Amino acid sequence: MTDTLVVIEPATEAALEEVPRADAADVDAAVARAKGAFPAWRAVTPAARAAHLRALADALAAHHEELAVLEARNAGKPLGDARGEIGMVVDTFRYYAGAPERLLGETIPVAAGQSWTVREPLGVVGLIVPWNFPLTIAAWKLAPALAAGNTVVLKPAELTPLTALRFAQIAAAAGIPDGVVNVVVGPGRTCGQRLVEHPDVAKIAFTGSTAVGRSIAAGAADTIKRVTLELGGKSANVVFADADLEAAAAAAPGAVFGNAGQDCCARSRILVQAQALDDFMALLEPAVKAIKVGDPLSEATQMGPLISAGQRDAVASFVVSDAAVAIRGDVPSGPGYWFAPTVLYPVDAGARAVREEIFGPVAVVIPFQDEEDAMRLANDTIYGLSGSVWTRDGARALRMARAIDTGVISINSNNSVRVSTPFGGFKQSGYGRELGPHALDSYTEVKSIFYATS
Ligand code: NAD
Repeated sequence: MTDTLVVIEPATEAALEEVPRADAADVDAAVARAKGAFPAWRAVTPAARAAHLRALADALAAHHEELAVLEARNAGKPLGDARGEIGMVVDTFRYYAGAPERLLGETIPVAAGQSWTVREPLGVVGLIVPWNFPLTIAAWKLAPALAAGNTVVLKPAELTPLTALRFAQIAAAAGIPDGVVNVVVGPGRTCGQRLVEHPDVAKIAFTGSTAVGRSIAAGAADTIKRVTLELGGKSANVVFADADLEAAAAAAPGAVFGNAGQDCCARSRILVQAQALDDFMALLEPAVKAIKVGDPLSEATQMGPLISAGQRDAVASFVVSDAAVAIRGDVPSGPGYWFAPTVLYPVDAGARAVREEIFGPVAVVIPFQDEEDAMRLANDTIYGLSGSVWTRDGARALRMARAIDTGVISINSNNSVRVSTPFGGFKQSGYGRELGPHALDSYTEVKSIFYATS
């Protein structure tokens, strides 16, 4: 360790904590610890490994409020949201505690013997996560990786390392053996890149921007590392004229301004059938203006600040002075990286706000004529992560759900993430699936065994 890193509280712009900043040598040491711990961890019996994960879930549940407050302060998210996220962390460990005893294989009919498959762990897995849902996204990777018998090195984002560091302490106290879980806090271009290139790391599970995802895929090629990528999004919220417009308009702000828009699933393109546009906008305006933006630790707050001054500048670049701001909410004055919930309409189809992931509280409204037009617009993006369709016509809802190129889609709802269902992207939103039964595929290799009987 040569240096320290000052962690800032986005709602106050004040220093929250100072932590040691790791470098590439620290990554090498963490990988060596994880490699040393791997043989014993993979040999832990399935029932005992399940018990370890249940004990870890219990320990996290016992620290639920402490972790929620830490996450709310470090990431600037409303405490109520942070409580929900830490609840999901606990649930994720409980869900994958069922996995060690259910890593089933197949028997396959062959001549002259028996053939069957088993799932082997990969070894040391590098987990690289972003700052928007720090411990939640880490848990989506940690729980299936550990359940399958891998050891891990977790690199949180430099801006939000605090819950990851606390997690490591809680895991140790809960009896997870030394070296199984390792956390290194440092910059992506040194620590992250070293993990990607390290010959003793078998796989990288990455969540972050599409640009960094591209460099990770390229960097992993030299060692033929397994890679899963959960990247950016520009999801469509498609509202037909026959939908329950009140429900769709009431839910739309939460689906794009939740977590101050710093959500890969943000439904930031609101597509509205032209004949319902005026009614929808009239319902949307009070819903946007009612969003309570303020102190993350206040129970009433629904939206906090952005993560950093740099992020606020990046978001502001999408709302230049001549932008067509149709609706704008309120923000507090004083310190904090605040940005008001903003709806742009009308927008040019080629505008940056329509084409690029903003990762802030800015939505665009785009009218469409009919179902075919809605499908075309929804798919007119390099991304394919999430999305919604609102209509009372069930057959149309199913046609749209199949036609939109996206990893998850909701009908008459904006909810896309559950512990028990797969989550991940089409197109440049990435590859691989997290959560649900599918995540285990990404943390195991299938081995085929033949036993001669003739
Ligand atoms: P980012 O890509 O800048 O950083 C993510 C992580 O990668 C951080 O830990 C960072 O230190 C590390 N990193 C940076 N450069 C690296 C390099 N060259 N090699 C290895 N690691 C490196 O992303 P961010 O700004 O922290 O997060 C925002 C992005 O994450 C958005 O694009 C968002 O859509 C995406 N995201 C995706 C999902 C999903 O599940 N699809 C979820 C949340 C966020």
